[in-house]
Amino acid sequence: MPDTRDDPLVTRLRGFGTTIFSEMTALAMEHDAVNLGQGFPDEDPPAPVVAAAHEAIDAGHHQYAPGPGVPALRAAISAHQRRFHGLGFDPDTEVTVTFGATEAVAATILALCERDDEVVVLEPTYDAYTAVIAMAGAVERRVPLTPPPPGDLDAGWRLDLDRFDAAIGPRTRLVLLNSPHNPTGTVLTAEELAAIAERCVAHDLLAVTDEVYEHLVFDGSHRPLASFPGMAERTVTISSAGKTFSATGWKIGWACAAPALTTAVRTTKQFLSFAGGTPLQHAVARALALPDEVYDDLANVHRRRRDLLAAGLRAAGVPVMGSAATYFLVADVAPWGHDDGEAFCRWAPGAIGVAAVPVSAFVGDAGPVRSLVRFAFCKRDEVLEEGVARLRMLAPEDARR
Ligand code: PMP
Ligand code: GLN
Repeated sequence: MPDTRDDPLVTRLRGFGTTIFSEMTALAMEHDAVNLGQGFPDEDPPAPVVAAAHEAIDAGHHQYAPGPGVPALRAAISAHQRRFHGLGFDPDTEVTVTFGATEAVAATILALCERDDEVVVLEPTYDAYTAVIAMAGAVERRVPLTPPPPGDLDAGWRLDLDRFDAAIGPRTRLVLLNSPHNPTGTVLTAEELAAIAERCVAHDLLAVTDEVYEHLVFDGSHRPLASFPGMAERTVTISSAGKTFSATGWKIGWACAAPALTTAVRTTKQFLSFAGGTPLQHAVARALALPDEVYDDLANVHRRRRDLLAAGLRAAGVPVMGSAATYFLVADVAPWGHDDGEAFCRWAPGAIGVAAVPVSAFVGDAGPVRSLVRFAFCKRDEVLEEGVARLRMLAPEDARR
């Protein structure tokens, strides 16, 4: 028995500590560093999105929303899924509004996993998955993505199907998939998704997809797993408004799934938070209906900033892996004399005034990714330029000019 006087936290959550994102943002603030760590934009959402929130407050939307979410937002999510992905979800029985994608993932895993059920995830693994799988008493099975080879850094981190197959066993309950993928910026290809779908059908597995970066794809395109044969009835499709509209603090997310899965998700969700953010739910309903230009403009801004940061880092002497999507790119800081990305990230805010996040925080065995660091490019141009200028001080003499 653990001594609860020393640490009252339940054993299954020991070791989770404070998230790497909070830790690095705290270091950035302490040292007034350029924060290329935690993934949040430093610009406001588009004006019509902000205006919609003001109007929702003024219209008096201050009380509890219905548990599954305000009808206008559920209708807008349904329309969005059809407009962008050709997916049909009934707003009343197949759409649930949540407190960000984080709560959607938590409600889904807690609803669907028995103790000791196994959940297959991609590694690098977003930290919240590991924590909520532990909360459910389920068991995480990681499938390491293969990093791009040194000669083809734009190839993305690819799925090794043998490893995927090896992770599936008699206790596998579901696959929890994140594409576009944080932290690598990889978008799984249609072939990779088709192969995953085929396994889900063959082994009768459920799938849960975290698609929060669905609109921040710069190269290639994103297809929801639910659109593959046999997947509509077995997939919970999750996303949120935070990344798409540069409003990460709003925490309006959603889970779309067939009625029986939706009923299960709603059962847990109502006891996690019931329903929150009523005026913001109304605002997101309006935001989702904005014309394609609004979505395209946001993606274009992020694409340009990705290119700006990537070029700056390369000029500063480090290899940069291609990022096809998300807010992030990964670079190898070894040429700056830092073999340990985590140590680099703890050192850099104070020493050179830049914060970032080590990729090792997303993996069990840091070995192969030890010197890799994730940099966020969802920041204003001048902030990225200042960050790059500071990092350039680490470059070998000849790269500095
Ligand atoms: N999933 C992934 C992969 C993320 O990167 C993030 C946050 N950046 C989230 C979920 C959290 O989404 P939300 O803020 O809507 O809860
Ligand atoms: N998802 C964000 C990131 O990857 C962080 C969210 C959080 O702080 N929990 O940077």
